[in-house]
Amino acid sequence: MPSFDPQLILRDELAELKAYTPEAGSYAVRLDANEAPGPLPADIRKHLTEVASKTLWHKYPDSGVSQLKKTIAKMHGVKSSQVIVGVGSDEIITMLLTAATRLKSRAPAPTLLTTTPTFVMYRLSARIRGQRVMEVPLDQAWDLDERAMSKAIEMAAPNVIFIASPNNPTGTMVSPDRLERLIQQASSSLVVVDEAYVNYADRDQCYLLSRYENVAILRTLSKVGFAALRVGWMIGQESLIKELDKVRLPYNMPSLSQSLAHCVLGEHLDYIQKLSLDVRKERDRVALELARIAGVTVVPSQANFLWLQVSRPASEIHAALARKGVLVRSFHGRGGKMEHFLRVTIGTAEENDQFLAALAEVI
Ligand code: PMP
Repeated sequence: MPSFDPQLILRDELAELKAYTPEAGSYAVRLDANEAPGPLPADIRKHLTEVASKTLWHKYPDSGVSQLKKTIAKMHGVKSSQVIVGVGSDEIITMLLTAATRLKSRAPAPTLLTTTPTFVMYRLSARIRGQRVMEVPLDQAWDLDERAMSKAIEMAAPNVIFIASPNNPTGTMVSPDRLERLIQQASSSLVVVDEAYVNYADRDQCYLLSRYENVAILRTLSKVGFAALRVGWMIGQESLIKELDKVRLPYNMPSLSQSLAHCVLGEHLDYIQKLSLDVRKERDRVALELARIAGVTVVPSQANFLWLQVSRPASEIHAALARKGVLVRSFHGRGGKMEHFLRVTIGTAEENDQFLAALAEVI
Protein backbone atom coordinates (compact mmCIF):
# COMPACT_ATOMS: atom_id res chain seq x y z
CA MET A 1 0.00 0.00 0.00
CA PRO A 2 1.47 3.46 -0.84
CA SER A 3 2.16 5.33 2.40
CA PHE A 4 0.37 8.51 3.37
CA ASP A 5 1.54 10.78 6.17
CA PRO A 6 -1.45 12.66 7.68
CA GLN A 7 0.98 15.48 8.56
CA LEU A 8 0.85 16.41 4.87
CA ILE A 9 -2.66 17.73 5.37
CA LEU A 10 -2.97 18.59 9.07
CA ARG A 11 -2.53 22.06 10.50
CA ASP A 12 0.69 22.68 12.44
CA GLU A 13 -1.10 23.61 15.67
CA LEU A 14 -2.31 20.04 16.16
CA ALA A 15 1.26 18.85 16.76
CA GLU A 16 1.51 21.01 19.89
CA LEU A 17 -1.86 19.89 21.34
CA LYS A 18 -3.01 16.89 23.33
CA ALA A 19 -6.56 15.55 23.00
CA TYR A 20 -8.80 16.34 25.96
CA THR A 21 -9.01 12.96 27.65
CA PRO A 22 -10.68 12.56 31.01
CA GLU A 23 -8.79 10.19 33.28
CA ALA A 24 -9.71 6.58 32.50
CA GLY A 25 -9.66 3.80 35.07
CA SER A 26 -12.11 2.86 37.74
CA TYR A 27 -12.15 4.69 41.05
CA ALA A 28 -14.48 4.15 44.00
CA VAL A 29 -14.86 7.93 44.36
CA ARG A 30 -14.61 10.20 41.30
CA LEU A 31 -14.43 13.84 42.22
CA ASP A 32 -12.58 15.06 39.15
CA ALA A 33 -15.17 16.31 36.64
CA ASN A 34 -17.39 18.79 38.52
CA GLU A 35 -20.54 16.79 37.90
CA ALA A 36 -23.36 17.10 40.43
CA PRO A 37 -23.85 14.16 42.77
CA GLY A 38 -26.45 11.59 41.76
CA PRO A 39 -28.57 9.70 41.48
CA LEU A 40 -31.53 11.54 40.02
CA PRO A 41 -34.69 11.03 42.15
CA ALA A 42 -36.88 8.15 40.91
CA ASP A 43 -39.93 10.33 40.09
CA ILE A 44 -37.89 12.61 37.80
CA ARG A 45 -36.22 9.60 36.18
CA LYS A 46 -39.68 8.18 35.50
CA HIS A 47 -40.89 11.46 34.02
CA LEU A 48 -37.84 11.71 31.73
CA THR A 49 -38.35 8.11 30.61
CA GLU A 50 -41.94 8.90 29.68
CA VAL A 51 -40.85 11.94 27.68
CA ALA A 52 -38.10 9.90 25.99
CA SER A 53 -40.60 7.22 24.99
CA LYS A 54 -42.39 9.75 22.77
CA THR A 55 -39.30 10.32 20.60
CA LEU A 56 -39.88 10.05 16.85
CA TRP A 57 -36.85 7.85 16.30
CA HIS A 58 -37.01 7.88 12.51
CA LYS A 59 -37.12 11.67 12.24
CA TYR A 60 -34.36 14.26 12.38
CA PRO A 61 -34.49 16.51 15.46
CA ASP A 62 -36.07 19.99 15.26
CA SER A 63 -33.22 21.86 13.60
CA GLY A 64 -34.34 25.18 15.07
CA VAL A 65 -34.47 23.77 18.65
CA SER A 66 -37.58 25.92 18.97
CA GLN A 67 -39.31 24.52 22.06
CA LEU A 68 -36.17 24.36 24.17
CA LYS A 69 -35.06 27.81 23.05
CA LYS A 70 -38.44 29.21 24.02
CA THR A 71 -38.18 27.71 27.52
CA ILE A 72 -34.65 29.05 27.96
CA ALA A 73 -35.65 32.48 26.68
CA LYS A 74 -38.57 32.63 29.12
CA MET A 75 -36.31 31.63 31.99
CA HIS A 76 -33.93 34.50 31.23
CA GLY A 77 -36.58 37.03 30.20
CA VAL A 78 -35.14 37.42 26.69
CA LYS A 79 -36.32 36.67 23.15
CA SER A 80 -35.82 33.21 21.59
CA SER A 81 -33.76 34.94 18.91
CA GLN A 82 -31.21 35.81 21.60
CA VAL A 83 -30.59 32.16 22.47
CA ILE A 84 -28.32 29.58 20.82
CA VAL A 85 -28.22 26.00 22.07
CA GLY A 86 -25.26 23.64 21.75
CA VAL A 87 -24.10 20.13 22.55
CA GLY A 88 -22.78 21.33 25.88
CA SER A 89 -21.41 24.82 26.26
CA ASP A 90 -18.27 23.33 24.72
CA GLU A 91 -19.97 23.34 21.34
CA ILE A 92 -20.95 26.97 21.70
CA ILE A 93 -17.34 27.85 22.49
CA THR A 94 -16.31 26.14 19.25
CA MET A 95 -19.04 27.91 17.27
CA LEU A 96 -17.90 31.27 18.59
CA LEU A 97 -14.28 30.57 17.82
CA THR A 98 -15.15 29.36 14.33
CA ALA A 99 -17.07 32.52 13.56
CA ALA A 100 -15.12 35.20 15.41
CA THR A 101 -11.91 35.09 13.38
CA ARG A 102 -11.72 38.60 12.04
CA LEU A 103 -8.16 39.72 11.62
CA LYS A 104 -7.93 43.11 13.29
CA SER A 105 -5.35 45.56 12.12
CA ARG A 106 -3.34 45.52 15.37
CA ALA A 107 -3.28 41.70 15.64
CA PRO A 108 -1.01 39.26 13.75
CA ALA A 109 -3.72 36.57 14.01
CA PRO A 110 -7.31 36.41 15.23
CA THR A 111 -6.92 36.50 18.99
CA LEU A 112 -8.68 35.03 21.97
CA LEU A 113 -8.09 36.58 25.38
CA THR A 114 -8.75 34.80 28.64
CA THR A 115 -7.32 34.39 32.11
CA THR A 116 -5.11 31.69 33.60
CA PRO A 117 -5.84 29.39 35.26
CA THR A 118 -9.22 28.85 33.64
CA PHE A 119 -11.26 26.33 31.69
CA VAL A 120 -8.90 24.67 29.17
CA MET A 121 -11.37 24.39 26.30
CA TYR A 122 -11.12 28.10 25.47
CA ARG A 123 -7.43 27.69 24.66
CA LEU A 124 -7.79 24.30 23.01
CA SER A 125 -10.68 25.35 20.76
CA ALA A 126 -8.83 28.48 19.69
CA ARG A 127 -5.52 26.75 19.00
CA ILE A 128 -7.26 24.03 16.96
CA ARG A 129 -8.48 26.85 14.75
CA GLY A 130 -5.05 28.45 14.47
CA GLN A 131 -5.96 31.41 16.62
CA ARG A 132 -3.60 33.23 18.90
CA VAL A 133 -4.37 32.76 22.58
CA MET A 134 -3.45 35.32 25.22
CA GLU A 135 -3.81 34.17 28.81
CA VAL A 136 -3.46 36.78 31.52
CA PRO A 137 -2.72 35.39 35.00
CA LEU A 138 -5.34 36.08 37.66
CA ASP A 139 -4.11 38.11 40.64
CA GLN A 140 -3.21 36.77 44.10
CA ALA A 141 -6.89 36.55 45.05
CA TRP A 142 -7.72 34.80 41.75
CA ASP A 143 -9.50 37.94 40.56
CA LEU A 144 -8.97 39.85 37.29
CA ASP A 145 -5.64 41.63 37.07
CA GLU A 146 -7.08 44.84 35.65
CA ARG A 147 -3.86 46.44 34.46
CA ALA A 148 -2.63 43.32 32.70
CA MET A 149 -6.03 42.64 31.12
CA SER A 150 -6.27 46.23 29.97
CA LYS A 151 -2.84 46.08 28.37
CA ALA A 152 -3.70 42.78 26.64
CA ILE A 153 -6.91 44.24 25.20
CA GLU A 154 -5.01 47.23 23.90
CA MET A 155 -2.14 45.23 22.43
CA ALA A 156 -3.91 42.12 21.18
CA ALA A 157 -7.26 43.46 19.92
CA PRO A 158 -9.01 40.17 20.79
CA ASN A 159 -12.22 39.16 19.06
CA VAL A 160 -13.48 37.20 22.03
CA ILE A 161 -12.69 37.42 25.75
CA PHE A 162 -13.74 34.46 27.91
CA ILE A 163 -14.25 35.10 31.61
CA ALA A 164 -15.45 32.12 33.63
CA SER A 165 -17.16 33.42 36.76
CA PRO A 166 -17.33 31.34 38.92
CA ASN A 167 -14.02 30.25 37.49
CA ASN A 168 -12.84 26.71 36.93
CA PRO A 169 -10.57 25.60 38.63
CA THR A 170 -10.39 28.34 41.29
CA GLY A 171 -14.10 28.48 42.24
CA THR A 172 -13.84 32.26 42.57
CA MET A 173 -15.93 34.98 40.91
CA VAL A 174 -14.43 38.10 39.36
CA SER A 175 -15.39 41.32 41.07
CA PRO A 176 -18.29 43.03 39.33
CA ASP A 177 -16.65 46.42 39.01
CA ARG A 178 -13.49 44.99 37.44
CA LEU A 179 -15.57 42.95 35.01
CA GLU A 180 -17.68 45.92 34.06
CA ARG A 181 -14.65 48.14 33.43
CA LEU A 182 -13.16 45.38 31.27
CA ILE A 183 -16.37 45.17 29.22
CA GLN A 184 -16.36 48.94 28.77
CA GLN A 185 -12.77 48.98 27.62
CA ALA A 186 -13.18 45.98 25.30
CA SER A 187 -15.88 47.67 23.26
CA SER A 188 -14.66 46.02 20.02
CA SER A 189 -14.58 42.52 21.54
CA LEU A 190 -17.27 40.10 22.64
CA VAL A 191 -16.96 39.37 26.36
CA VAL A 192 -18.38 35.93 27.13
CA VAL A 193 -19.17 35.48 30.80
CA ASP A 194 -19.19 31.73 31.34
CA GLU A 195 -21.64 30.94 34.14
CA ALA A 196 -21.32 27.14 34.06
CA TYR A 197 -21.22 27.08 37.90
CA VAL A 198 -23.58 29.95 38.66
CA ASN A 199 -26.12 27.74 40.45
CA TYR A 200 -23.61 27.40 43.27
CA ALA A 201 -22.86 31.13 43.52
CA ASP A 202 -24.38 33.99 45.52
CA ARG A 203 -25.08 36.07 42.42
CA ASP A 204 -25.18 35.95 38.64
CA GLN A 205 -24.00 38.41 35.98
CA CYS A 206 -27.00 38.39 33.63
CA TYR A 207 -27.72 42.08 34.37
CA LEU A 208 -24.76 42.85 32.09
CA LEU A 209 -26.82 41.74 29.08
CA SER A 210 -29.13 44.73 29.32
CA ARG A 211 -26.24 47.16 29.87
CA TYR A 212 -23.74 46.09 27.21
CA GLU A 213 -24.20 44.82 23.67
CA ASN A 214 -20.73 43.22 23.68
CA VAL A 215 -21.65 40.73 26.43
CA ALA A 216 -22.90 37.16 26.14
CA ILE A 217 -23.74 34.73 28.94
CA LEU A 218 -22.89 31.05 28.67
CA ARG A 219 -24.79 28.40 30.66
CA THR A 220 -24.96 24.61 30.86
CA LEU A 221 -27.03 21.80 32.34
CA SER A 222 -23.87 19.73 32.91
CA LYS A 223 -23.07 20.96 36.41
CA VAL A 224 -26.56 20.68 37.86
CA GLY A 225 -27.32 17.00 37.46
CA PHE A 226 -27.77 16.58 33.70
CA ALA A 227 -24.30 16.21 32.23
CA ALA A 228 -25.51 13.22 30.21
CA LEU A 229 -27.78 15.44 28.09
CA ARG A 230 -24.94 17.64 26.76
CA VAL A 231 -27.02 20.81 26.68
CA GLY A 232 -25.55 24.28 26.94
CA TRP A 233 -26.77 27.66 25.76
CA MET A 234 -25.67 31.21 25.23
CA ILE A 235 -27.68 34.40 25.53
CA GLY A 236 -26.51 37.35 23.52
CA GLN A 237 -27.43 40.11 21.19
CA GLU A 238 -29.87 39.05 18.45
CA SER A 239 -27.56 40.07 15.60
CA LEU A 240 -24.72 37.95 17.04
CA ILE A 241 -26.90 34.88 17.60
CA LYS A 242 -28.23 35.13 14.05
CA GLU A 243 -24.70 34.94 12.63
CA LEU A 244 -23.61 32.13 14.97
CA ASP A 245 -26.60 30.13 13.81
CA LYS A 246 -24.92 29.94 10.40
CA VAL A 247 -21.97 28.13 12.01
CA ARG A 248 -24.16 25.72 14.01
CA LEU A 249 -24.43 22.36 12.28
CA PRO A 250 -27.89 21.40 11.09
CA TYR A 251 -29.60 19.11 13.61
CA ASN A 252 -26.81 19.66 16.15
CA MET A 253 -29.13 18.97 19.09
CA PRO A 254 -30.36 15.37 19.30
CA SER A 255 -34.13 15.01 19.78
CA LEU A 256 -33.63 13.35 23.17
CA SER A 257 -31.47 16.16 24.50
CA GLN A 258 -33.98 18.72 23.27
CA SER A 259 -37.07 17.08 24.74
CA LEU A 260 -35.43 16.05 28.01
CA ALA A 261 -33.78 19.44 28.57
CA HIS A 262 -37.10 21.10 27.79
CA CYS A 263 -38.74 18.87 30.41
CA VAL A 264 -36.02 19.57 33.01
CA LEU A 265 -36.01 23.34 32.54
CA GLY A 266 -39.79 23.56 32.19
CA GLU A 267 -40.80 21.29 35.07
CA HIS A 268 -37.91 20.38 37.34
CA LEU A 269 -36.18 23.63 38.16
CA ASP A 270 -37.15 23.09 41.79
CA TYR A 271 -35.01 19.93 41.79
CA ILE A 272 -32.03 21.87 40.40
CA GLN A 273 -32.54 24.52 43.06
CA LYS A 274 -32.67 21.99 45.89
CA LEU A 275 -29.67 20.09 44.53
CA SER A 276 -27.68 23.32 44.28
CA LEU A 277 -28.53 24.26 47.86
CA ASP A 278 -27.60 20.82 49.14
CA VAL A 279 -24.29 20.88 47.29
CA ARG A 280 -23.51 24.36 48.63
CA LYS A 281 -24.15 23.21 52.20
CA GLU A 282 -22.02 20.15 51.65
CA ARG A 283 -19.30 22.30 50.03
CA ASP A 284 -19.20 24.54 53.10
CA ARG A 285 -19.04 21.53 55.42
CA VAL A 286 -16.17 19.98 53.44
CA ALA A 287 -14.34 23.33 53.38
CA LEU A 288 -14.60 23.55 57.18
CA GLU A 289 -13.32 19.99 57.58
CA LEU A 290 -10.43 20.68 55.23
CA ALA A 291 -9.46 23.79 57.14
CA ARG A 292 -8.74 21.48 60.12
CA ILE A 293 -6.19 19.44 58.16
CA ALA A 294 -2.64 20.78 58.56
CA GLY A 295 -0.96 21.48 55.24
CA VAL A 296 -4.22 22.32 53.42
CA THR A 297 -5.58 25.79 52.64
CA VAL A 298 -9.02 26.14 51.04
CA VAL A 299 -9.96 28.95 48.68
CA PRO A 300 -13.56 30.15 49.39
CA SER A 301 -15.68 28.67 46.60
CA GLN A 302 -18.72 29.84 44.65
CA ALA A 303 -18.85 26.60 42.67
CA ASN A 304 -19.48 22.87 43.20
CA PHE A 305 -15.81 22.18 43.80
CA LEU A 306 -13.01 23.34 46.07
CA TRP A 307 -9.60 24.66 45.12
CA LEU A 308 -7.04 23.53 47.65
CA GLN A 309 -3.51 24.60 48.26
CA VAL A 310 -1.46 21.71 49.60
CA SER A 311 1.94 21.93 51.24
CA ARG A 312 3.27 18.81 49.52
CA PRO A 313 3.47 18.54 45.70
CA ALA A 314 -0.06 18.17 44.29
CA SER A 315 1.17 15.40 41.97
CA GLU A 316 2.13 13.23 44.97
CA ILE A 317 -1.14 13.81 46.80
CA HIS A 318 -3.14 13.22 43.62
CA ALA A 319 -1.34 9.89 43.09
CA ALA A 320 -1.65 8.84 46.74
CA LEU A 321 -5.40 9.61 46.71
CA ALA A 322 -5.79 7.67 43.46
CA ARG A 323 -4.14 4.66 45.06
CA LYS A 324 -6.84 4.87 47.72
CA GLY A 325 -9.53 4.92 45.03
CA VAL A 326 -10.24 8.67 45.18
CA LEU A 327 -9.79 10.66 41.98
CA VAL A 328 -9.42 14.44 42.15
CA ARG A 329 -7.97 16.84 39.60
CA SER A 330 -4.40 18.04 39.66
CA PHE A 331 -2.95 20.70 37.40
CA HIS A 332 0.69 20.12 38.32
CA GLY A 333 1.60 19.59 34.65
CA ARG A 334 1.22 23.33 34.15
CA GLY A 335 4.02 24.04 36.61
CA GLY A 336 4.54 27.10 38.83
CA LYS A 337 1.88 27.78 41.44
CA MET A 338 -0.26 24.97 40.06
CA GLU A 339 2.14 22.40 41.51
CA HIS A 340 0.56 22.93 44.91
CA PHE A 341 -3.13 23.03 44.02
CA LEU A 342 -5.82 20.38 43.68
CA ARG A 343 -9.44 20.70 42.56
CA VAL A 344 -11.99 18.48 44.20
CA THR A 345 -15.63 18.24 43.16
CA ILE A 346 -18.29 18.09 45.87
CA GLY A 347 -19.90 14.66 45.69
CA THR A 348 -22.37 12.90 47.96
CA ALA A 349 -21.75 13.21 51.71
CA GLU A 350 -20.34 9.66 51.71
CA GLU A 351 -17.98 10.37 48.81
CA ASN A 352 -16.82 13.59 50.46
CA ASP A 353 -16.16 11.77 53.73
CA GLN A 354 -14.13 9.15 51.91
CA PHE A 355 -12.11 11.91 50.26
CA LEU A 356 -11.57 13.72 53.58
CA ALA A 357 -10.43 10.54 55.31
CA ALA A 358 -8.08 9.63 52.46
CA LEU A 359 -6.60 13.13 52.30
CA ALA A 360 -6.00 13.26 56.06
CA GLU A 361 -4.03 10.02 55.72
CA VAL A 362 -1.91 10.99 52.71
CA ILE A 363 -1.15 14.66 53.33
N1 PMP B 1 -17.40 26.19 31.10
C1 PMP B 1 -16.71 25.87 32.21
C2 PMP B 1 -16.15 26.96 33.04
C3 PMP B 1 -16.52 24.51 32.53
O1 PMP B 1 -15.81 24.19 33.61
C4 PMP B 1 -17.08 23.51 31.70
C5 PMP B 1 -16.94 22.04 32.00
N2 PMP B 1 -15.84 21.61 32.61
C6 PMP B 1 -17.77 23.91 30.57
C7 PMP B 1 -17.93 25.26 30.30
C8 PMP B 1 -18.31 22.92 29.57
O2 PMP B 1 -19.46 22.36 29.98
P1 PMP B 1 -20.40 21.55 29.00
O3 PMP B 1 -19.76 21.46 27.65
O4 PMP B 1 -20.55 20.24 29.66
O5 PMP B 1 -21.66 22.35 28.96
